[in-house]
Amino acid sequence: MIHANADVGELGYRQSLGELIAHFERLMRETRRLIGRSDRAEREMQALAQQLAYRATRDPLTGVFNRSAVIERTTKVLQTNSAVMVVLDIDEFKRVNDDFGHPTGDRVIMGVVECLRRIVGDKGLVGRVGGEEFTVLLPRCDPADARVLTESMRQAIGSYAFAPPVNRRVTASFGVSANLKGTDFDTAYSLADAALYRAKRNGRDRVELADQ
Ligand code: GH3
Ligand code: MG
Ligand code: MG
Repeated sequence: MIHANADVGELGYRQSLGELIAHFERLMRETRRLIGRSDRAEREMQALAQQLAYRATRDPLTGVFNRSAVIERTTKVLQTNSAVMVVLDIDEFKRVNDDFGHPTGDRVIMGVVECLRRIVGDKGLVGRVGGEEFTVLLPRCDPADARVLTESMRQAIGSYAFAPPVNRRVTASFGVSANLKGTDFDTAYSLADAALYRAKRNGRDRVELADQ
């Protein structure tokens, strides 16, 4: 340490200065280390927050939008645009579980989602709103185009080669509603769901349009 003392010679002074500089450098190194650590912590926190926000919107089995995200996205889209809502449900899925077991049932669900994603691409949003029930939201889609696209989804699922032990076709039934801008989620969904119910009643593995 430097003392305001006349009998500290130049050598002593230099020594004190040297110690002071060394001490200062130690402090600087420590400060840099602490800043680095807190920057790293902040980056980790940001990444974690992003992951959490992402996961909150996703179905863990398939990675598509979960029910609450489907409701939120649909509501948002319909505030500013028209949109077609497709609701589909796997046919006689209970038999798949009964015959091949629940884990195989889960793989069938993943296969169905793969078909939907492949056909829909960036034209719409795929969601899983129930165990074996899905939605596809098609913003600003012409109803005739939506019908063609939904037929492609139906065919893709019906012709998909599921891995053993699944040794038969798996099909799905579809209901489609065409909704004007300003429609709420419940209306869009209920109309499509009623059409889906008709598709089931009329023999399954088919697409029905809502009465609108
Ligand atoms: P339908 O053609 O009328 O739709 O008949 P279904 O057998 O598909 O309909 P039902 O509602 O009777 O059966 C749906 C089954 O889906 C019952 C339930 O055990 C099963 N399930 C629901 N969620 C999951 C899941 O996450 N994984 C598996 N493996 N099965 C599920
Ligand atoms: Mg169902
Ligand atoms: Mg079903």
